[in-house]
Amino acid sequence: MSVADIPREPERVRLIKPSPSITVSTAAKAMKAAGKPVIDLSLGEPDFDTPDHIAQAAHDAALRGETRYTAPDGTPALKEAVADKFRRENGLAVTRDNITCSNGAKQVLFNALMTTLDPGDEVICPAPYWVSYTDMVLLLGGVPRIVECGLEAGYKLTPDALAAALTEKSRWLMLNSPSNPTGAVYTRNELVALGEVIARHHRLMVMADEIYEHILFEGDPFSSFTAACPDLAYRTLVVNGVSKAYAMTGWRIGYGAGPDWLVRRMAKVQSQSTGNPCSIAQAAAVAALTGPQDHIARFCAAFRARRDLVVAGLGQIEGVEADRPKGAFYAYPRLAAFIGATAPDGSRMEGDADLAEFVLREALVAGVPGAAFGLSPHLRLSFAASKADLQEAIGRLGAALGRLCRSG
Ligand code: PLP
Repeated sequence: MSVADIPREPERVRLIKPSPSITVSTAAKAMKAAGKPVIDLSLGEPDFDTPDHIAQAAHDAALRGETRYTAPDGTPALKEAVADKFRRENGLAVTRDNITCSNGAKQVLFNALMTTLDPGDEVICPAPYWVSYTDMVLLLGGVPRIVECGLEAGYKLTPDALAAALTEKSRWLMLNSPSNPTGAVYTRNELVALGEVIARHHRLMVMADEIYEHILFEGDPFSSFTAACPDLAYRTLVVNGVSKAYAMTGWRIGYGAGPDWLVRRMAKVQSQSTGNPCSIAQAAAVAALTGPQDHIARFCAAFRARRDLVVAGLGQIEGVEADRPKGAFYAYPRLAAFIGATAPDGSRMEGDADLAEFVLREALVAGVPGAAFGLSPHLRLSFAASKADLQEAIGRLGAALGRLCRSG
């Protein structure tokens, strides 16, 4: 094929960028391969192994011959296990007909947007948001409507800010709690207050992304959006999955609970795209959801200890403003004091992308710039890493930031 014959990238694809966290982590891996002792805090995945009984269930399923196509949106056994999880842990009134399963929560989100967005429909994304929300919306012809929710607002959307962002084109509100990248968690009362605004706007649907539900360090017990606002269940999709709570990012199983009409549409799209999620991974997810849950407390305690270490370390670095994440496994320090600073080589820090690049180069620590999440100037640092690596990374970060020349 000659260069002239290569198809032009369609407009909808040109609008989006590769996942920034994957881009940073690829750069970090290349530096490591070149022999540099990079500490990669860019990716959002637990550093624990999938518990043995889950891997064993996958092995058994493969040997039993569960190696064929399944229903596009999940086996009856997985749907029942998911429905039971939502009833038991979240108090949701759901049956199998409300359940959809897919290749990770990411594809659950994608299928839901794909089957509901008309061109020009607006999707409210409180910023900072998970990197994929806005690009999925753009890819599917929608318009992300970004509402900044900064450090002062605890990185949370208020009912007033939501009301101000609503238009006759608003279709979805993306609500992520606990949040990636800030670890902010909405209380039940805060969800109820948002629900009061949503109830008045009949066209709006709620995407409640609760994938970090179990990585919670303090405060009230977790409240699912649908549990807080049951009257809005008919237009809410609760999204969750096994990636984070069961250390199963590579198995690619996510699921959702929503109205049956939406779940049916999503199955139709899935049947014409990826088909069903992997049959063996589905069997593993059944074991995860129905088997022993004690590892979750162990994971959570380890993340809490690392959170404390990172927050304490960041607090020692002059100019860094760090709050205390209540859940998930990311710190999101604000680096406003370093914007405009000059590096020893004379380069100027115009924004947080420059800072992330400087930190990677000088401190050999990989983090993701706040620009990727729609709220700058920040750096997202995952604390899903060993305490020794975190300690070393924070030390190097402080030393590198200390080498920046700040005026004033
Ligand atoms: N939602 C949020 C907020 C996430 O951080 C992630 C992964 O990082 C996902 C959804 C997707 O998870 P998965 O596709 O692995 O289930």
